[in-house]
Amino acid sequence: MSLYDLLVAQIATNGPMRISNFMADCLLHPEFGYYTTQDPFGASGDFITAPEISQMFGELIGLSLAQSWMDQGSPTPFSLVEFGPGRGTLMADLLRATKGVAGFHAAANIVLIEASPKLREHQSQALADYTPHWIDNVEQLAPLPTFAVANEFFDALPIRQFVRDGDAWRERQVGITGRILAFGLGPNIPQPALAHRLEDTKDGDLVEECLAASAIIANLGQRIKDHGGAALIIDYGDWRSLGDTLQALKNHAPVDPLEHAGQADLTAHLDFEALATATPCSYSRITPQGVFLERLGITQRAQTLAQNMEADTLNAHFLAHQRLTHPDEMGNLFKVMGLYPDNRRPPAGLEP
Ligand code: SAH
Repeated sequence: MSLYDLLVAQIATNGPMRISNFMADCLLHPEFGYYTTQDPFGASGDFITAPEISQMFGELIGLSLAQSWMDQGSPTPFSLVEFGPGRGTLMADLLRATKGVAGFHAAANIVLIEASPKLREHQSQALADYTPHWIDNVEQLAPLPTFAVANEFFDALPIRQFVRDGDAWRERQVGITGRILAFGLGPNIPQPALAHRLEDTKDGDLVEECLAASAIIANLGQRIKDHGGAALIIDYGDWRSLGDTLQALKNHAPVDPLEHAGQADLTAHLDFEALATATPCSYSRITPQGVFLERLGITQRAQTLAQNMEADTLNAHFLAHQRLTHPDEMGNLFKVMGLYPDNRRPPAGLEP
């Protein structure tokens, strides 16, 4: 049995399913989920993320968080948290870059929020020199100052989609035609949570909602407000999205999200406005990844690393820098938002 067959059978019995439930099954089904069964990253995987492109990404994030930690009086102990750490590369680079920050490692409880047992193994190997521990969700974090990073984590959280119909909305669902998965629309129902979207949409427009992201940010933001800390949220998306952004990637190419259930990565753009609305602590302006990394000194770091490189390695290094920062590559599509306590400065690289 495949996930596809399982979903067809379920829908035949229970009726059409929300896209959020479809997405959750595709990504994290215990037996068939994409993240539960595969190692999706890198050149041989389905997509490549910023920390896998260059060590500079995790290093600069580490320095930004360590700077916030020092600005707040170097609180001890504190939680150093990563949401969805993938292969553990970002955290390994972050820790290597912050070795010289007096007291930072000794004070840090390294906490990884990861749903996939397979990826937890990768993380354990990448961080063999440290003693991280794993939790399932943000509620399990200790009541401590919390310095956190999430790169391409929120885009993997399940979204719902709604198509405007008059002053109400019809939910886009996954149903079946014969034994083939197909999108359809549910009944016309008012959605009070989407009241603000009646202002900027017209009949037939599609909007997305990610309740899971808002709930996580509400919890994390409350911790930062109460205990101190900072968070860097990096993802593709914009202040407010419009239209269908559900995307499936397999072997680095877009594929039909229904056809490859559980076999392809599934993501949706992040609406940063929803995070800003959900957090009780201060948040920064959203900043393009390229601008953020340049402000943190990626060019100087790239030059230093380049001094010990030759030929092919040097060329790959040059291309990696460009890929992370250039507006036509990841530099503009990916945005960064910082969370921080009221009356403090935002994390380095960001503005209030
Ligand atoms: N941050 C990494 C990986 C991004 S992929 C990088 O930049 O390379 C998304 C990651 O989030 C994976 O590790 C995946 O297993 C994890 N993940 C997805 N949904 C999750 C959830 N609901 N709870 C915890 N981890 C989740």
